[in-house]
Amino acid sequence: MSIKIKEWISKMPEYIPGRTIEEIKKEYGLREVYKLASNENLFGPHPDVMKKICENLSDIKYYPDDESCEVRKKLAGKYNIDSSSIIMGNGTDQIIEMICDSFIEPGENAVIADPTFLIYEKSTLKCSGTVIKVPLKEFRQDVEKMVYSVNDKTKILFFTNPHNPTGTNINRSELDFIMKNTGENLLVVMDEAYYEYIDDEEKVDTIKYLSEYNNLVVLRTFSKIYGLAGLRIGYGVSGNSIISALNKVRLPFNVNSVAQKAAAAALENESYVEEIKGKIEEEKKYFYYVLAKNGIGFVRSCANFILINSGENSDMVVEELLKNGFIVRPGKNLGIPGYIRVTIALPDVNKKFLLTFITIFNNLYKKEE
Ligand code: PMP
Repeated sequence: MSIKIKEWISKMPEYIPGRTIEEIKKEYGLREVYKLASNENLFGPHPDVMKKICENLSDIKYYPDDESCEVRKKLAGKYNIDSSSIIMGNGTDQIIEMICDSFIEPGENAVIADPTFLIYEKSTLKCSGTVIKVPLKEFRQDVEKMVYSVNDKTKILFFTNPHNPTGTNINRSELDFIMKNTGENLLVVMDEAYYEYIDDEEKVDTIKYLSEYNNLVVLRTFSKIYGLAGLRIGYGVSGNSIISALNKVRLPFNVNSVAQKAAAAALENESYVEEIKGKIEEEKKYFYYVLAKNGIGFVRSCANFILINSGENSDMVVEELLKNGFIVRPGKNLGIPGYIRVTIALPDVNKKFLLTFITIFNNLYKKEE
């Protein structure tokens, strides 16, 4: 093909998505395959949410409410803020894209951690911007260095709390440092896709910072702890001027009607969030216990996934796990070679996974001992 493709597309690193269950079943002739690669809540949504989804299917002949009024009103009540400070997206992915579309002029840049969630870079490059990448420090975002990397062309600082792919958090003093050292002409994006999983003692109420700092945008989603990843609905909270700019670039009807109903129902069953958080905490403890007992390194996680040291033969570990029906995310594809990122699943799956992983690990690395 001789037609010239836009330059930013050719600059873009390729996104390697997790493999699908069907693909792996076929390739390895397996009956049971567990996808532990994309950090969904594998307990699924609350049963009342499922019911609401079924009840509202007949409405799909209509366009959805363009402004997602019901969900925004419920979120406004939850956070005690005005619904005009909330924008809904087809996942927070879409809001990240809207943020870059609204704020990055050609030649401007965004500061991001390295590695981090790929969409920040993709959305910046799409606007003919560039990214300044600041390496992680011991698996944590190097908040100070990120802030000091800002130059006169920087428009946005992207932070992820908890971070993906490491699961580490940003604490209160780090957040204070960020906000105190960034002026009003710099947008600070706190992507909190996994926020609800953070331990209560470590949780910082970022939404409260919005009353003091109007250059802050907080992103949260129904894809993770609420178990609605397949419906695509997330939200951003910020001051009115930022939200109204984002609304101008937002495509009409960007959030489908079933997702809106499901999210509204999820907000009526908030105790479910605590229930899931508790279950995941228990399971994480189990992972830590088994991994430590077997002398395998890992990164303590504030989210529902865990980064495990799979050693120099990590590709082989991933391949052997696939043969045994476990799809995990190779750290190599996420910028952390030698590790795998594993979604915490239901207790019986976690047990099976750990048994399989330890056997593979020991066969590969401990044969000579
Ligand atoms: N931010 C981070 C850090 C994520 O890991 C993800 C999902 N992988 C998202 C945002 C996107 O979430 P959503 O499904 O709401 O688009």
